[in-house]
Amino acid sequence: MTFKDFDLNESLQMGLQDIGFTEPTPIQEKSIPLILSGQDVLGAAQTGTGKTGAFVIPILNQILSEPKEGTKALILSPTRELAQQIDEQIFALGYHTGLSSSTIIGGEDFSKQAEAIRAGVDLIVATPGRLIDQMKVLDVDFSHIKYLILDEADRMLDMGFLPDVNHIIDKLPKERQTLLFSATMPKEIQNLAQKIQKNPELIKIAMSKPSNSVAQRAYQVDGREKLKLTQFLLDELEWTSCIIFTATKRGTDQLERLLSKKGINVASIHGDRSQDERTKALNSFKNGKVPIIVATDVLARGIDIADVSLIINYDVPQAVDDYIHRIGRTGRYDKSGMAITLVSKKDSKLFRPIKDKAGKDLEIIDGDALLKSGSSGSGDNQPKKSSEKLKRKQKPEEKTDSKTDAPKEESKAKKADSQEVKAPDFSNVKSLDVSKNEEGNYVFTLKNKPSTETTSQEKPAKAKTAKKESKSAPKKQAAKQAKAPSKKQEKQPRGSKESRAPKKKIEIKKIDKAAERNKKAHKPAKGIWGLIKSFLPKF
Ligand code: AMP
Repeated sequence: MTFKDFDLNESLQMGLQDIGFTEPTPIQEKSIPLILSGQDVLGAAQTGTGKTGAFVIPILNQILSEPKEGTKALILSPTRELAQQIDEQIFALGYHTGLSSSTIIGGEDFSKQAEAIRAGVDLIVATPGRLIDQMKVLDVDFSHIKYLILDEADRMLDMGFLPDVNHIIDKLPKERQTLLFSATMPKEIQNLAQKIQKNPELIKIAMSKPSNSVAQRAYQVDGREKLKLTQFLLDELEWTSCIIFTATKRGTDQLERLLSKKGINVASIHGDRSQDERTKALNSFKNGKVPIIVATDVLARGIDIADVSLIINYDVPQAVDDYIHRIGRTGRYDKSGMAITLVSKKDSKLFRPIKDKAGKDLEIIDGDALLKSGSSGSGDNQPKKSSEKLKRKQKPEEKTDSKTDAPKEESKAKKADSQEVKAPDFSNVKSLDVSKNEEGNYVFTLKNKPSTETTSQEKPAKAKTAKKESKSAPKKQAAKQAKAPSKKQEKQPRGSKESRAPKKKIEIKKIDKAAERNKKAHKPAKGIWGLIKSFLPKF
């Protein structure tokens, strides 16, 4: 089955094509036709199954078929990061549709969000706390809401959002379609579903079971040796990017500091950080600039980061569900990964139910013996030794000296930093083309004023660096030289002929249109589109 088999709006089909979705995942295959037919859906789905597309695709399609009149869809998410991620998918899929969306989340500009609400963006993606705060000062017009989506409902429950969620739902029109997605289905969620949905169709996709594509290991280790073992495994195993989960915010800070001291290039994220810090840390991890992120469970649910190949539970999670969510960050959709849990004597009580749940799938290794022997605990599926990989991911001067564990001098690292990337010169830029090459990587083509062309065949990670540097480029001159979109282009009707970009090639005018749309929605463009936008001169 392909997406062509659904009767989707053409502009949405183009968005699907742009982001490379051709076949629906099982949850999408089941939920899209139901949602398109107006049915309430109760989705029990593991993260990484394509759950976001399962509701975003049909909701966008439905909104496109209706007259434009205020905010039509409200999506509630437990965390800011998940809300941003959903919004990114709306932006990418809805790129050619002309629909607007905005995130209403803590840690970001309150008044801009209020303006977006007043402007009546088509979709709002919100965390309950911030939406309630907005409702206290604004007379939020929910009268046009036709679609309510609760994502990661069990997490919202765990985080104590249920009263807020109920309060918000009380203000919504009773005539609406309600979709509820949850990784687990405890009694409270079933009760909530009964209260807020009408005869929902239950869709179950591989519930509460670690993904088969994740190899699971537990290393029994003296608590004092966890850091040493972590460093050893990072050096020994084959991986491209790694999340290390800790139990507490303090533990996260400490571990980040310790790993950095050992010369490892690492970021961290937890709930006490400002939104700006959280976004920066997550972006540098997502775009590959930093290969390791240390995090509390704030990163355990719903966050989709491509190619996370290694999860290390530095601290054993409190509950089996948390374990499943943490290791679900790897082995996403069509990828495989490895999840490692470090278990000290103190952790054994918490670890027992995890071990029971995982059963034979979990390989238990003596971490202490391993550290003594210097091997990584091999088996047939033992990943290849890849110290080279870790080194490649670090800046040359940050390499750990394997004999002494000592980081090299800081001054050298700083010098390397300053030499790392040369600021691109945008002064002569006429336009920017973005397209995908055969490997699916984005290709940025800068068209310079006379006839010279500079092609940078880089992944978004590299482009991000260029964005930082571009601040130094003379903006005024570049602005004069870049073409502003015409009014006609800005005001194209949804799905009109003019709004269709050539396949796999996005012109600068389109990007401006997207930027304009975001500006209207009072939010910065994010993800790859944010990156693309960042290349454009400011007007
Ligand atoms: P989610 O469960 O929504 O977080 O999605 C997990 C990952 O699967 C994300 O990287 C999506 O971009 C990807 N994905 C979702 N649907 C599809 C699809 N139909 N084809 C290919 N990738 C998909």
